[in-house]
Amino acid sequence: MNRGVVLTEVGRYGLEEIEVARPGPHEVEVRIEASGVCHSDLHVAQTGWAHRLPVLLGHEGAGIVEEVGEGVEGVAPGDRVVLGWRSPCGRCRWCLRGDPRRCRTPPAAKGRLSLPDGRALAQTLQMGTCATRTVVHEAAVVRVPDGLPPEQACLIGCAIATGVGSVLETAGVWEGARVAVIGCGAVGLSAVQGARIAGAEEIYAIDLDERKVEAARRFGAIHGGPAERLDFVFDVVGRPETVAQGLHLLGHAGTLVYIGLPQPGAAASIDLGMLFDRRLRIVVSHGGDHWPAEDFPRLAQWALEGKLDLEAMVTKTVGLEDVERAFDDLRAGDVIRSVVTL
Ligand SMILES: [Zn+2]
Ligand SMILES: [Zn+2]
Repeated sequence: MNRGVVLTEVGRYGLEEIEVARPGPHEVEVRIEASGVCHSDLHVAQTGWAHRLPVLLGHEGAGIVEEVGEGVEGVAPGDRVVLGWRSPCGRCRWCLRGDPRRCRTPPAAKGRLSLPDGRALAQTLQMGTCATRTVVHEAAVVRVPDGLPPEQACLIGCAIATGVGSVLETAGVWEGARVAVIGCGAVGLSAVQGARIAGAEEIYAIDLDERKVEAARRFGAIHGGPAERLDFVFDVVGRPETVAQGLHLLGHAGTLVYIGLPQPGAAASIDLGMLFDRRLRIVVSHGGDHWPAEDFPRLAQWALEGKLDLEAMVTKTVGLEDVERAFDDLRAGDVIRSVVTL
């Protein structure tokens, strides 16, 4: 019997039995081994976030390929994979002009999941990883080395790809740069790690929660001294106040990278004189512009080499029935990541 955490109405979710049909052409069935509990899942649970209901939660998953549909060549049953929610479609304007990292129409499987009463089950960001099994498009599965424990590997699929990608792909942080990260949850800590890998000279961690600043130090942040005249600020919080704070910290030709999900209707006011005088830039990062097929193998390799610390990002492993508690821990800031293991 397959089970998954399903949102049936906004704010109401729980563990349900689910039906998993066989994968169609260019689709892959994955037996999930681990699924990270991310803020975006909480956002889906609280608002639905443009998903049709009922929807299966989870989008940061790792597992084993169980069955492949017709025409699938990249993976075979038994392969260990991480699922990627941002795979380029290959057909849109951005993909066709050779800029797949800007694609916003990732291909999806044709809806192979349902509830026992026959209702079709949507999948969070086309994934639905908070479940024993899921079916996704072949573009969304990326092979990773066996040496990585699944509860660590799954983080590559969202938090790590978003944080590190924001630094290396969206911003292009250079060696010797001065960097700050506002908001040091899993994505912020991944940005800190990305900045360290990029060779940033100064990395400031900013968070109202002192525990998170402390965690950021372990991942390479240098906390101390007033942060100012920075080259890059990563705003993982995304509130008008943090945007203002971030812009103020920037020096000449500095870049604010906006990662945080805005509240509906939120608006910020910008000092245009400062924007002009300092030649500031504001760029938006969607998932760190990551490209699963290109980035995941490299991120996994870095993790194996110890360049990227995934182990310290996993605070807790929990069961499928504990997702509500994992959401509470996330809201309270008690964990970097809780990971559902199966
Ligand atoms: Zn595309
Ligand atoms: Zn996520």
